[in-house]
Amino acid sequence: MVNNLSIKNALVVRSTGSWYDVSYEDKKVQCRIKGKFRLQGLKLTNPVAVGDIVDIHLDKNEMDKGVIKKIHNRKNYIVRQSPGKKHFLHLLASNVEQAILIITVNYPKLKQGFIDRFLLMTEPYNIPVTLVFNKSDLYDEGDTNMYLYLKDIYEKIGYNCILSSALNGGGIEELKSCLKNKTSLVLGQSGVGKSSLINAINPNLELKTNELSDYTGKGQHTTTFAEMFEFDDIKIIDTPGIKNLSFNNLEVLDVAHNFREFFEISKHCKYSNCTHRKEPNCAVKQALEDDEISELRYYNYIQILEEIEEQNYWERHKM
Ligand code: GDP
Ligand code: ZN
Repeated sequence: MVNNLSIKNALVVRSTGSWYDVSYEDKKVQCRIKGKFRLQGLKLTNPVAVGDIVDIHLDKNEMDKGVIKKIHNRKNYIVRQSPGKKHFLHLLASNVEQAILIITVNYPKLKQGFIDRFLLMTEPYNIPVTLVFNKSDLYDEGDTNMYLYLKDIYEKIGYNCILSSALNGGGIEELKSCLKNKTSLVLGQSGVGKSSLINAINPNLELKTNELSDYTGKGQHTTTFAEMFEFDDIKIIDTPGIKNLSFNNLEVLDVAHNFREFFEISKHCKYSNCTHRKEPNCAVKQALEDDEISELRYYNYIQILEEIEEQNYWERHKM
């Protein structure tokens, strides 16, 4: 007698930490993990991510509950340092075709370097990125100039930019067509209007939105878990709002290699392991002087390197 039913190539659509919602043939089942899954020796807080293709076993007597038996090889994945457990990595999503970063110039104020830190998560797999500047209805002249300044920097190096307002509908059609026929990870600092934008694209979803919590302009968390929504040939993976992005999983050269325009130019640096700081005959420093690379990007790059070196120093000199 067969007690188990085997299902291959199911899709993980929601992750709550201990349970995963897995979908196959228009059905959805709750699954647990059995056994150990490792990702190239990395320490992960969650071994399975939304977007994973998995094989599952269902119990004949309890068809709405299952066990994940196998995770198929991932085409790509996006990880961040776990916000709670510093020495672990958190898998945000896998098998994505593009990433959408929602930002605001103001309300809440864009954190210096946040965009560049985000790009460090998508560059290792060359995942295309669109930057969505939301709340355009609130921009004064200074905010608009800041938007134009950033748009210029990021479009020049190949990242798409959209100006949007969930309030007055600006940019919503553009965003919608950008999302068509793809699986997209959507991410942003809390309070930037990620849920409002997703609702504007598909009002049926009715995602919960939050008022900005106080005058500091900091939003509260709305989404707690990553979740995939499918509608109108659009697949989006909504992720919890992010406060900070730190990288104790990266080395200095990882950062250098993932600032894409620096990497391109670095072929002409004297040293192949040039970090583009004090080294002689550095093509990146030269490009900076010639205004060919952005001063802002270079400044953020140096900040991230310093943070990583400091972190690594203490890590490596721990007794
Ligand atoms: P999330 O944390 O990124 O999901 O942000 P929410 O969607 O919950 O939005 C946070 C706050 O910003 C709410 O009070 C929204 O009404 C407001 N909001 C979102 N988008 C816009 C926008 O385009 N313009 C304005 N003025 N407010 C917005
Ligand atoms: Zn260099």
